[in-house]
Amino acid sequence: MAKLIKEEEAKGRLHIDTPLMGESLVSKKLLATTEAESYFRVHPDINVMKIGGQSIMDRGAKALFPILDALVEAKDKHKILLMTGGGTRARHVYNIGVDLGMPTGVLSKLGDKVSWQNAEMLSILLAKHGGVKIGHGDHLEQLTMFCRLGYLPITFGVPPYGFFEHPAEFGSIPPHRTDCGAFLLAENIGARSLIYLKDEKGLFETDPKKVDEAKKGSLKYFDRISARELIELDLDDLIIERPVLDFLQRSKCLKQLQIIDALSHPEHIHAALAGEHVGTIIYKDEKKAE
Ligand code: ADP
Ligand code: MG
Repeated sequence: MAKLIKEEEAKGRLHIDTPLMGESLVSKKLLATTEAESYFRVHPDINVMKIGGQSIMDRGAKALFPILDALVEAKDKHKILLMTGGGTRARHVYNIGVDLGMPTGVLSKLGDKVSWQNAEMLSILLAKHGGVKIGHGDHLEQLTMFCRLGYLPITFGVPPYGFFEHPAEFGSIPPHRTDCGAFLLAENIGARSLIYLKDEKGLFETDPKKVDEAKKGSLKYFDRISARELIELDLDDLIIERPVLDFLQRSKCLKQLQIIDALSHPEHIHAALAGEHVGTIIYKDEKKAE
């Protein structure tokens, strides 16, 4: 074999070195060697903003319109990809699906239609301002172009696992829903930032909606916490889907995400895009595990 290659090389033929040849691609040591110093970022100027389904859109015009006004204003200054949550209708279809014993992957397929409906409605509302609904195909390579031309691209948040959705740790609701989809897309396009528009100012020790009004003021609030610390805290409930924390700990491009209260403070959209700290920032802990 070696002799053959030498003879071919002498003729000036290209020989491709394939160090992964003959590897299982499972070895931890081997995989660690594929870590790059820096990763290519496809859309480094795009800010991914996920607009909550339950937390924002289901509240209707009163909640949504001031947020859309802020987004329309912001898009002339910042490149934005809007992604949509599912919300109450997704929960309803999950409920029926669970009752019927539907597999997790089917529940995922049912939920994505709802998130798609929300993208459809946003694209209609924003059409005259350049809102354009896109799918998860080739248009994702064109995001910067859309934004440069003044468009506001909108896509749905459910990642395309469908029948390939992972089994959930607890129960059968698909673990990767729209918070996860927004994270995965932002990470893979090398986005500038990832901002979640919700109805609370960020993460508390417990769901503030399930606490008596009198006790709300004394709830511990996290304005900044690492994904690793948050995983270790193992809180029963979170303002963001739990797998996002693991994604962030492993991320190659995204270093942090911010969750803001866009419901009470639509103006925080501008602040967060300008890099201000107005909600909870969850960041990647760069320290190596001991
Ligand atoms: P979205 O529609 O944006 O996906 P969700 O309703 O799924 O929003 O999640 C946001 C909600 O999570 C908040 O409105 C809040 O009531 C709830 N929540 C649960 N646990 C927490 C927590 N620890 N801190 C803050 N909010 C929490
Ligand atoms: Mg949610």
